[in-house]
Amino acid sequence: MEEKRALRGAGYIRVSTADQATRGLSLEAQEAEIRRYAAAEGIELLDIYVDRGITARKRLDRRDGFCQLMAAVDAERIDIVIVLRLDRWFRNVYDYHRMMAEHLLPHHVDWCAVKEQYNTKTTNGRLMINLRLSIAEQECDTDGDRIRDIQDSLIRRGQWPFGSAPSGYRIVNKRLEKDPDTQAHWEFFFDHLLTNGSIRAATIAMNERFGTSYEYTHTQKMTKRPLYKGEYRDVPGFCPAYLTEAQWDRLQYLTSKNLRTSTTPEGLVYLFSGLLICGDCGRRLVSQTTRTNYGAGVYYSYRCPLANLNRRCPNNKTLSERKIERHLLDWLDEHLAGYIAEYEVQRSRKDAAQPDNTAAIRAKQERVKELFINSLIDIQEYRDRMDELESKILPPPEEEPGPDIENLRRLLHSDSLAIYSTLDRAEQRAFWRGIIKTISVYRGIILDPPVFL
Ligand SMILES: [Zn+2]
Repeated sequence: MEEKRALRGAGYIRVSTADQATRGLSLEAQEAEIRRYAAAEGIELLDIYVDRGITARKRLDRRDGFCQLMAAVDAERIDIVIVLRLDRWFRNVYDYHRMMAEHLLPHHVDWCAVKEQYNTKTTNGRLMINLRLSIAEQECDTDGDRIRDIQDSLIRRGQWPFGSAPSGYRIVNKRLEKDPDTQAHWEFFFDHLLTNGSIRAATIAMNERFGTSYEYTHTQKMTKRPLYKGEYRDVPGFCPAYLTEAQWDRLQYLTSKNLRTSTTPEGLVYLFSGLLICGDCGRRLVSQTTRTNYGAGVYYSYRCPLANLNRRCPNNKTLSERKIERHLLDWLDEHLAGYIAEYEVQRSRKDAAQPDNTAAIRAKQERVKELFINSLIDIQEYRDRMDELESKILPPPEEEPGPDIENLRRLLHSDSLAIYSTLDRAEQRAFWRGIIKTISVYRGIILDPPVFL
């Protein structure tokens, strides 16, 4: 008769951060229980696999200890798995059955719980397991909900629910405030970004200026967080803001352009595609490239799409990208300051030409009202006079959305033009698209200043 070999066992322990503080669920407590059980049952305990700081919600394939345990099962190094309770390794019916079907059953490995009695071999036993798992799943969801509720109420009171602060902030009395050590970095970063429209260029410039080593992937994520306009989980005014609402909107606009495919399928980047307008027919110019003869590179240019089609547009000139670029850089260098000044003079003239007479009219209407109250005029006359006065109120000057002068001024006082040549083509493209709406091209020549955003 064959001698009965001792079962080879492995323990599995999952302990979440909260469990560690709970009596009986700490890592040490679970381990002691498993060892005691194995000894009492005559199981040779080969190993204990541990997942620390992991909640039951965590996906199984992200639990290292669990994955190692399954590898031991697959290698048939063990016969039985010991857990403290079923909910230590599963809180989900689906995961449990998948584990059984993929690992335990094919390798004839059993499992047992120190604190609970299960029989995996009978229908009733399996039904019991399903029931337990369903309850655990439910509890797990409620726990999650509870945590979220607590977080939400903290957030509504302006309290930061996490242990570490996001970049540019520090936690003081549970609230976020700007971190004096890094505030200047992020102010510089956002300023640069709003001017140039390139996250990469702004990151590099910040790192150069402050000797920091922030990564592009990090700064890129930051630009999407409403936190930097002071908002967190739909609570406005949650923390001090780095950006005004308008600046934040503008940033989203700029960065969405940043991300939108700025290259053609062939990997070519056109600096001005979509920005150039034909001065003859108003169509947008199309871009084209020519491979230069000696393989030296690519020649980028733009032309009117109608010019060659039965000569429907007389603008048959092709304009090289180089020329446009040089023209614009020169223009910005020489004329931007003047442009801003002139724009402001015009704006103030416009304001002066369209005075607001509302207050004066209202005062006159008050006097008409008094006449009526004192029965010096009848209701009909009262209405007529009131309406007449009302119609004399000058409409407010039409707010045509002019260029963002603030942005242009920032551009003027920044080093953008100096660093332009150091940007790569995608960044240069982002730069132009960040400031220019359209450029009118008349038969191969740019006559007017660009139309700014
Ligand atoms: Zn045309």
